[in-house]
Amino acid sequence: MTLKPLAGHVMARRRLSKALANGQLPQVMLMTGPEGVGKQRLALWLAQLVLCEAPAEAPCGRCRACHLVLGLTHADLHWIVPIPRPKAGEPDKQMEEAAESIAELLEERRKAPLYSPPDGMSAHGMATARLVARRASLTPVEGRKKVFIIGEAERLVAQESSPEAANALLKLFEEPPADSYFVLTCADPGKLLPTIRSRAVPLRIGRLSTAEVREFLSKELEPAPAGAELTRLVARANGSIGTALSDSGEGSRNRKAAATWLEAVLSGAGPAAERALAQAPWSARGEFTDLLDAVAETLGDAARLASGVEGTESVPAALQVRAATGLLAAQALVSDAREAAQGNVNPQLLLAVLAGDLAEVL
Ligand SMILES: [Zn+2]
Repeated sequence: MTLKPLAGHVMARRRLSKALANGQLPQVMLMTGPEGVGKQRLALWLAQLVLCEAPAEAPCGRCRACHLVLGLTHADLHWIVPIPRPKAGEPDKQMEEAAESIAELLEERRKAPLYSPPDGMSAHGMATARLVARRASLTPVEGRKKVFIIGEAERLVAQESSPEAANALLKLFEEPPADSYFVLTCADPGKLLPTIRSRAVPLRIGRLSTAEVREFLSKELEPAPAGAELTRLVARANGSIGTALSDSGEGSRNRKAAATWLEAVLSGAGPAAERALAQAPWSARGEFTDLLDAVAETLGDAARLASGVEGTESVPAALQVRAATGLLAAQALVSDAREAAQGNVNPQLLLAVLAGDLAEVL
């Protein structure tokens, strides 16, 4: 399976290919724009253009490099996606584990190119930062350039990482090796670490036109939607193919439930927490872990806020006054609970214990 074709973004493509042809393509770029509009897909298109053996305004689509990029197997294309926290203790082992996790996720995207966003627990942690720095220091394998795409860059976590790893990444973005391009993508630049944001040249990616969304959905979805179903999907998309593909805004429902639950936990009101639980939108185990993901995501946003990153709209008021250390400790507890939730544990009981633990660290 190869990547689905890039839809739309005609002006952005033109600007990028012109900059590359003139030798003016920034080495560190930050693509921002609404979720699901194809930022990472555009970054992959750019990678294909950079690595193509006969590039013009667009990648040729026929050379070996183009085929390897479209199959996500080009050795000089490093698509870095958020991963669960590595389990290994030793830094080198963690880095290996991170490389394996990323490879597995890319294998999934190879099989199902219309992927959905990663779960709320996944991040770009210390091991990923070290992995990127390591790979950036190596010479290209196939061609003369290397391209790094760091998707969902707002998930670059500074707090949990060792200062060396974070600094290595910052130094890399400040003085990138001459043979490397870094393309970061992010829906909300306000959530990005300011130290990283200040080192990247921004490129704003807009929504697709209705015609572009309609054409993509009718050509690339199987079975192809038609008639009223197609019209409904296009309307819901609001210029974002990712939105059209996502399941009915389930994520935002979970975030709301997570916020209600966390506020009840923090208010110390046992009965309120129970009431919030009863209203939580879960019945099956998968839905329960989705809810835990939403809780972890909310705590992560609160920790970023506490570390001075703007973008508060998704953080409940009760969490906005907490310290980052407590919030990160709370996130780790949720992570443990999520692992326990995979086993044969009563979700209700697990949440009750978790509520007590969180109240202690927050
Ligand atoms: Zn080519």
